[in-house]
Amino acid sequence: MRPLVASIRLDNLKHNYLLARSQHGGRALAVVKANAYGHGAVRCARALADVADGFAVATIEEAIQLREGGLDQPIVLLEGVFEAEELALVRQHGFWPVVQSAEQLAMIEALPASAKGLTVWLKMDSGMHRAGFFPEHYAAAHQRLMGCGKVERIVKMTHFARADEPADSATRTQIETFDSVCAALPGDESVANSAAIMAHERAHRQWARPGIMLYGATPFDTSHPAAAGLRPVMRLTTRVFGTRELPAGQPVGYGGTFVTERPTRIGLIACGYADGYPRLASTGSPVAVDGVRTRIIGRVSMDMITIDLTDLPHAGIGSEVELWGDAVGVNEVAAHAGTIGYELLCNVKRARFEYS
Ligand SMILES: *Cc1c(COP(=O)(O)O)cnc(C)c1O
Repeated sequence: MRPLVASIRLDNLKHNYLLARSQHGGRALAVVKANAYGHGAVRCARALADVADGFAVATIEEAIQLREGGLDQPIVLLEGVFEAEELALVRQHGFWPVVQSAEQLAMIEALPASAKGLTVWLKMDSGMHRAGFFPEHYAAAHQRLMGCGKVERIVKMTHFARADEPADSATRTQIETFDSVCAALPGDESVANSAAIMAHERAHRQWARPGIMLYGATPFDTSHPAAAGLRPVMRLTTRVFGTRELPAGQPVGYGGTFVTERPTRIGLIACGYADGYPRLASTGSPVAVDGVRTRIIGRVSMDMITIDLTDLPHAGIGSEVELWGDAVGVNEVAAHAGTIGYELLCNVKRARFEYS
């Protein structure tokens, strides 16, 4: 069997959830969209079922998957519904849709009179300019929803564009914009993603929405004290299944982009870009062999990667290689590929998932 394994440590997930909620206070929706950032949505949600106040997903299909998996907590649909027909499923399953556009608001108003008691999360565009009602239209949207007879409860929400840059003032400005309108409106509030939970105390409201921190990765570029207690949930590992010795001056891999500078011992490992390992993370990207860090040499191929074993004389066929997890941070690999840990975690495929 191909030895690529994504080990998912569910106790670390639970630890991170409880840490997120205690850093924020109040209640926390565990964000499990995109198959729980690649970790397996139903398995992760079940592991949190006895502590989580609710879950958040991107699509109604993801939400239904959780219900079918036995989760009966509140589930927020972060993008709301895409078509009016989905509102029947929203009602049937008791989902909490975000309302972030005039079209979505009109779909709620157009529900039959028998539709009652919905909880909706009304989103303000407080400055990210991606989704939500402009501040000047927000109170009117709130009033229409409360007055339409279908809605029992509104949670006021917004989302930050730059909460992962703690020194930047944009998040403070977004909070002030949000508060200037929301102070006069009834209901709970929710503004904090992981970065705001950790770095922006003024973003702490009744509901938090931690995502990436649940999986043990920091949203910040640099180290941050609030991220110190996070425990990586996924450990992506494989094994060496080939070795070769090359003299100095030999090219390695597609394009010969790496040329040995000295006599070099190469290990061949079973993982490639078809597994979600980023092709851009080539020569120099870290891996850990039996816990000792070394580097990729040459280009990442579809199914294989070559690594430098020259200084690891005890490593050989069968040695365990960690792509990311405990000895190698997913964000380190992401930095080599010009992206963020979120994307790498979401992209893992073809690996065997083992839960513990
Ligand atoms: C994905 C998402 C989150 C979680 O963000 P993280 O940075 O992963 O913590 C929170 N809120 C909304 C609206 C989201 O789309």
